Amino acid sequence: MRYVIIGTSAAGLAAAETIRQRDRQGGITLISDEPHLPYSRPLLTYLLGREVDAEKIFLKSHDYFDRWGFEPRLGAPVLKVKPESREVHLEGGETVLYDKLLIASGASPRLLGIPGEDLAGVYTLRNLADVENLEKGLPPGGSVAIVGAGAVGLKAAEALIRRGNRVTLLEAESRPLPHLLDQTAAGLLHQVLTSLGVESHFGVRPVGLMEKKGRLNGLLLDNDNTVTADAVIIAVGVRPRNEFLAGTGLDRPEGIPVSPFMETGHRHIFAAGDCACAPHFLTGEPAAYRIWPAAVAQGEIAGANMTGAGRRYDGILPRNSISLKGVKIIAGGLLEPDGKDGEVFNELDRSRGHYRRLVFQNGCLVGVTLAGPKAADAGIYFQIMARKVPVKDLPVDIRSAAFHPGKLWA
Ligand SMILES: Cc1cc2nc3c(=O)[nH]c(=O)nc-3n(C[C@H](O)[C@H](O)[C@H](O)COP(=O)(O)OP(=O)(O)OC[C@H]3O[C@@H](n4cnc5c(N)ncnc54)[C@H](O)[C@@H]3O)c2cc1C
Repeated sequence: MRYVIIGTSAAGLAAAETIRQRDRQGGITLISDEPHLPYSRPLLTYLLGREVDAEKIFLKSHDYFDRWGFEPRLGAPVLKVKPESREVHLEGGETVLYDKLLIASGASPRLLGIPGEDLAGVYTLRNLADVENLEKGLPPGGSVAIVGAGAVGLKAAEALIRRGNRVTLLEAESRPLPHLLDQTAAGLLHQVLTSLGVESHFGVRPVGLMEKKGRLNGLLLDNDNTVTADAVIIAVGVRPRNEFLAGTGLDRPEGIPVSPFMETGHRHIFAAGDCACAPHFLTGEPAAYRIWPAAVAQGEIAGANMTGAGRRYDGILPRNSISLKGVKIIAGGLLEPDGKDGEVFNELDRSRGHYRRLVFQNGCLVGVTLAGPKAADAGIYFQIMARKVPVKDLPVDIRSAAFHPGKLWA
């Protein structure tokens, strides 16, 4: 059996190792356009902020591919997949044949589509090469504008403050992490950003990037204001990497649609990770999770099923956490109830920086946000959500201010 996997990151590696555990003989080819050994993308901002050394971000050692009996093709961009002849075409002319193919090609940063994005001094932050470019190009102590107050933009802001840069954060919505946090939790986060020295502007969009002598020197905003900056990082989200699937019907803008078995609409082709659209744990609707643990979980299922296991993926509970200046915020599940039978419970203690927000749907806990000291209790709320138990059946009222996780399933 010839297994071919496009992508050597969270999803691709999880799949490859699962296949090898189940099939000792099959050939497994791992393809990546990146030349490096596999590394941790979540550690990139820590590398940028000089909190970790470069060698610490690598997940595997030099003998990894040999030990697992994998055939790597690193620094080898895939140009085309031809499902009818089961071929993968690489830049440079090589054609790799497969019996089973996994697409684990991840995502790439979305751009703004405004004039000036090709100027020197304009960056994105997705790959190790992006951090290397920022290392080379960022003026020490210079001013950096970050467009997008999502998780990557916020982590980049903290890293740059650590490096001694001045940071301006620009966000089109009215608050940071607008898709994960409600106004109150986002307000707490905004306070932390301000105390870090980040200048934040909400409800604004850049409409043009300004240049001086061929380099970026500022941004023009849709409210006619300008922001001067020596560099800009565009962090407005990602789009699935599926350009090499043109003509197959799999290159959908929202991601490659997959069944609960991680199969695409083409026989013998599976997809997993940030490039895929798999069922959401709570809603069952197709969703792009775009977090590392989901990519690993999907990769494991895809790998097992490529060897014929028939395992089902029911989604994992989406969970995000951000920790800035020692203040931790954890959010997971749904931000708002998804229908008529919904209810939201809020508890805020401003003096202690403590916030607890619980979202209920049809009597079950479906969303949680915890900020401050109570974030340490997140595990128990995620267990309640994962078990999908009606809260009335729990031995204690989780809404009560006196609720303590130790009282549940102690
Ligand atoms: C800065 C940053 C911080 C993050 N922090 C967190 C975090 O704290 N927690 C968390 O859960 N998630 C985090 N994420 C998200 C997480 O990294 C992704 O969800 C995860 O990497 C997805 O894994 P993947 O295997 O699907 O794809 P990717 O990691 O994107 O890997 C896909 C691989 O396929 C390769 N590839 C793509 N197209 C081709 C082609 N045509 N030919 C050859 N190779 C190709 C790519 O170059 C890449 O190496 C972060 C992401 C970033 C960028």
